[in-house]
Amino acid sequence: MNLVLLGPPGAGKGTQAKLLEDSRSLVKLSTGDMLRAAVAAGTELGRKAGDIMERGLLVPDDLVIKLIAERMDQGGCGEGYILDGFPRTIAQAEALDRLLKERGKELDRVIVMQVDDDALVERIAGRFACAYCGEGYHDLYKLPKVNGVCDRCGSAGFVRRRDDNEEVVRARLEAYHAQTEPLIGYYRRQGKVSAVDGMADIRAVAREIGQALEGIGVKGAKRPAKTPG
Ligand code: AMP
Repeated sequence: MNLVLLGPPGAGKGTQAKLLEDSRSLVKLSTGDMLRAAVAAGTELGRKAGDIMERGLLVPDDLVIKLIAERMDQGGCGEGYILDGFPRTIAQAEALDRLLKERGKELDRVIVMQVDDDALVERIAGRFACAYCGEGYHDLYKLPKVNGVCDRCGSAGFVRRRDDNEEVVRARLEAYHAQTEPLIGYYRRQGKVSAVDGMADIRAVAREIGQALEGIGVKGAKRPAKTPG
């Protein structure tokens, strides 16, 4: 099963992708994570992308498409991919269709996570993650059970993203509405969209996604009913 999680920054795509990865044998492909790793490693790609990311703009299509294609060629796709943060433009969506087709695969479902812009700024400004395993936390909604210790791996280092501040978040939201939102129509025309309420709590969202995926990957099963809107 191959899935795309689509939604604005802060909608919870990374959190839900991780839950899906843990609960099913799916492999999470996050272009944001890959680009941040390239920036941290100081590669040529990282040097090209770093400044763009800090301004909340989109990295050029050819660079991210190449990144995804190279990752797919490394193998290790488990039962399929969960794409988090890719595609973000129509050109990327068309490239994804092509990349999957060339590998004898197809995209099964696009989960659209619906959230309102004002809530996103508050959500994003409070988030941080374990520096070692990447487990996500939030100042208001999800603190570690033991102060300063990661629930998942027990380590004590945490990080905040440089682009998780109000000014950059506004730019990222603008990029989302202008360049990424049109993908909802693109995938709706393919009959692949399921919309979930991204404002609900993490477990409720996970349940809704689970329902949207029922029957997918099971031979002869029907696709879930399309959701309106
Ligand atoms: P994310 O972690 O998905 O929010 O991505 C962080 C930043 O990386 C974005 O604001 C963009 O600058 C860049 N980025 C990640 N994925 C893409 C993509 N598919 N296309 C263009 N830029 C991307």
